Amino acid sequence: MGHVEQLKLLWELQKVEGEIAHKEQELQNIPSVKAYHARKKELADLQEARRCHGEKMDAAREKMRNGEMNLQNISAVMRGLHKKLYGGEVHSTRELESMEKKLSLIQAEKTVLEDEILSLMEELEKDELEKLRLDSREKEGQEKLQQLKNRAQKEMQLAKQELELLHERRTAIMQQVDAPLLQKYRELSSKMQGQCVSLVLDGFCGICNVSLPSAFFARILTPGKLVYCENCGSLLVPGDKKT
Ligand SMILES: [Zn+2]
Repeated sequence: MGHVEQLKLLWELQKVEGEIAHKEQELQNIPSVKAYHARKKELADLQEARRCHGEKMDAAREKMRNGEMNLQNISAVMRGLHKKLYGGEVHSTRELESMEKKLSLIQAEKTVLEDEILSLMEELEKDELEKLRLDSREKEGQEKLQQLKNRAQKEMQLAKQELELLHERRTAIMQQVDAPLLQKYRELSSKMQGQCVSLVLDGFCGICNVSLPSAFFARILTPGKLVYCENCGSLLVPGDKKT
């Protein structure tokens, strides 16, 4: 392989390596993968909200059970008082008055308790609706998440395949470049931290765009000769016949 072809391979290598870097960057930023992670977080938040809601409902049910038990006890006490009061067992007026007073106090307590139970029931009914809403949102969220996951996996796989192809091309090019030239390219590339091979077109450096003196062109084509741009320091590669 000729000198110029070797140099051109270096330029190809630089191009492929640039594409690899770009593709790797892309792989880290696939929109569907990002969307999947965002949706997953949303779903976790929703599940947490549903869990809290469930706990709140359990507490309300417990409160209602206690209230109903209290109500039963109060009713029993009232029945007892009632029986005594109107069963003819008590005769003293003072005692009767005191019992009537007690009965009316308990009645008031019972009314308060009944109201409390009623509002708890209403609250639980609303909570039940909210629970259904949260359940359906979660189900919907799960389905969407699954769809996104499928898409993200496909896109990720595709990007990885593309990256793999680029790596194969890179390897193929590297196998054709003479070892010392490849070594030179690596040194230059790490020194310049980026593009270090410049394709010369119409007499201009392909990297810094400076106009190159015509004396360069013959030297670029000389076998074994490495010529660098005086302005940016990149290795010059002839791009076309005119170079
Ligand atoms: Zn230059």
